[in-house]
Amino acid sequence: MSLYPLFANLKGRPVLVVGGGAVAARKVAGLREAGALVRVGAPQLDEGLARLAHEGAITHFSGRFEPDWLDGVWLAIAATDEEDVNAAVAREAEARRIFVNVVDDAERSAFHVPARLRRGALTVAISSGGRAPVLARRLRAELETHLDTALGELAELAGRHRAAIAAALPDPDARRRFHDDLVDGPVGLAIRQAQPQRAEALLLEGLKNPGAAQAGSVAVVGAGPGDADLLTVRAQRALQRADVIVHDRLIGPKVLDRARRDALLIDLGKAVGQDHEATQNRIHDLLVEHARAGRRVVRLKGGDPFVFGRGGEELEHLAAHGIAYEVIPGVTAALACAAYAGVPLTHRDHSASLVLTTTHRNRGLSARDWRALALERQTLALYMGVSQLESVPRELMRHGRAPETPFALVENGTDPSQRVLTGRLDQLPALARAHGIRAPALLFVGEVAGLARKLAWFGECISAHEPLAQVA
Ligand code: SAH
Repeated sequence: MSLYPLFANLKGRPVLVVGGGAVAARKVAGLREAGALVRVGAPQLDEGLARLAHEGAITHFSGRFEPDWLDGVWLAIAATDEEDVNAAVAREAEARRIFVNVVDDAERSAFHVPARLRRGALTVAISSGGRAPVLARRLRAELETHLDTALGELAELAGRHRAAIAAALPDPDARRRFHDDLVDGPVGLAIRQAQPQRAEALLLEGLKNPGAAQAGSVAVVGAGPGDADLLTVRAQRALQRADVIVHDRLIGPKVLDRARRDALLIDLGKAVGQDHEATQNRIHDLLVEHARAGRRVVRLKGGDPFVFGRGGEELEHLAAHGIAYEVIPGVTAALACAAYAGVPLTHRDHSASLVLTTTHRNRGLSARDWRALALERQTLALYMGVSQLESVPRELMRHGRAPETPFALVENGTDPSQRVLTGRLDQLPALARAHGIRAPALLFVGEVAGLARKLAWFGECISAHEPLAQVA
């Protein structure tokens, strides 16, 4: 059977739903959303439908199905759990040439209701012709993540200016390019920046000079800790839109696999040397250069761009040079490693605060800093090089942390090769050496870290605890 797809305008048109249960209620909701005048026929209505009938939002025909309920309706849906009633509705509707759908009965249905998703004025409808509705629903769920929420607003905006666009761009090819640029260019960015008036102004500006080069932009994107499935939906969309991706050495192939095939990848691990300031300046220049050439640049950083990622400096540079940008957060290593190691960062019994800090590049912490870091009942998440695994526990204990405080050291967090090492703070250097812990690794110190030995669920967990009083 081959179906002819169509979108029906039901605004103000009477439609009959036979049935008063949960299935009928779902159909009624969809029909009301489309503005239909809904009549519901059933001996009894469930609570929600009864309320709608009471409010006058729907009309209730009480009792068993009678053919004259069909008088004057455009469509009918049979949604009862009695097969003979559904069959009667189908038969009577058919005889009157009224399109009828019998829920979950493709044979008796003259029309099918597709799985659908909406973005403002845009509707996508999927049908398997009644053969595999589950597959249609799965496909819908997948599309849900791929379709930018901005699309709906863009469709509304383009719809409002449809005549002006057609007048400015009589050539259909040029018009198609203009619409593509709307989604991916500055107008789409302004929508994602929640600045609809600017989006409209940019669209009108673009119409004055169609075909002119689009301004480029930069998305500063957090790639998360390594597991590509921990990329945010927004990050994936940005990767799919990118012309150029400027990424750190630590970004793995699994994440880069999600990028648009013809995007230019620039690996900073290869492109630059050891001098950190020269490197950072080179990155700034690269971003500005590509954006000025009208490209969509993604600056892809491990974890979150604003947590020990120098994302702030990059943004300041972009702002100073008038380049449009957006920032997409990522799952930072502390949150990812905690989740994947079974270390709850706060806990009603053990810890009420969390400190994210770093000992990278020897920031020269003062005694006062160390005393604050060594406080009890707080969780310390340390972004660090493994070379500091000797000095950090020593300083913490010197400034007041008890030697038996638990630690959890997470190596290669979220990767299948992840290892969690947990034990007492005073044993940390020896244990880390014994197990050959390598970068990247993140250290948790605090009462909660001991919970890893009970709660760890991913990869390998090496537990070297003495029985501890404070962790049950
Ligand atoms: N912006 C990043 C942090 C960059 S600093 C973020 O938000 O996560 C680099 C440090 O992060 C590493 O030295 C290490 O301590 C930590 N780190 C990053 N990824 C990690 C991972 N997968 N497992 C363990 N530690 C990690």
